[in-house]
Amino acid sequence: MTRGITSLVTTSDGEKIANPKNFKKLYKKLRLAHKSLSRKTKGSNNYQKARLKVARIYAKIKDSRLDYTHKLTTQLIRENQMIVVEDLAVKNMVKNHKLARAISGANWAELVRQLEYKAEWYGRELVKIDRYFPSSKRCSNCGHIVEKLPLDIREWDCPECNSHHDRDINASINILTAGLAVSVCGATVRPEGRKSRRAGAKKQKASNSDARESRAVS
Ligand SMILES: [Zn+2]
Repeated sequence: MTRGITSLVTTSDGEKIANPKNFKKLYKKLRLAHKSLSRKTKGSNNYQKARLKVARIYAKIKDSRLDYTHKLTTQLIRENQMIVVEDLAVKNMVKNHKLARAISGANWAELVRQLEYKAEWYGRELVKIDRYFPSSKRCSNCGHIVEKLPLDIREWDCPECNSHHDRDINASINILTAGLAVSVCGATVRPEGRKSRRAGAKKQKASNSDARESRAVS
C-alpha cells in the first residue's frame, strides 16, 4: 500500500480507501470558532467561552482521527497477510500547504505505529520500504523510471511500454513487489526490531513535529 493525497491508502489490488470526509466539516467548525474567538475581548467571559469551544473542536478532531485510524488499521491487518508501507519524506510534503492537512489528517506515523502492534497481535508481516525507493516514478509493468512525476499528476502513461497507470495503484504495486523481495531476503520489520525503533522515537521528541513525523515512520 502507498500513501497518496487523494486516498489515504491504496492497496495493490486497486482498492482505494478514502480519507475521512467528516474532517472537512470539523475543520470548517474550527475555522468559524477561531473567527468568533478573535472578535472577543481578551479576558472577558465570552472570550473564555469561545476559547473553550475551540479547544473542544480540537479534541473532537483528535478523537475522530484516532478512531478512523484504528478502524482502518484493523481492517487492513485482518484482510492482509502481509502489509508493506512506504516511508515517505513527510517533512518535505508538509511544506506544501495544500497537502499539509491531508497528510497530517491521514496521521501517517500513528497509522504505521498501529499497524506494527496489530501485525504482532494477528501474526501478520509488516514490511517497510525505504523512502528513496522510486515507487511512484517506476512503471510497475516494465520497470522504466520516469524522471519527473509532479504530485498533481494522478494518472500517467509509461513512455517505454505505453502502460496506463493510476499513480497510487502503480506505486502500490511497486511497493508490494519491493516488500515481497525484502520479505524473501528475511530483512523484515519484526517484533525484535521494536526496541530500537522505540528508543529512536524517544530521541526525536526534542525536534519539531514535522521532523518527528517523518522520522517516526522511518
Ligand atoms: Zn512501462
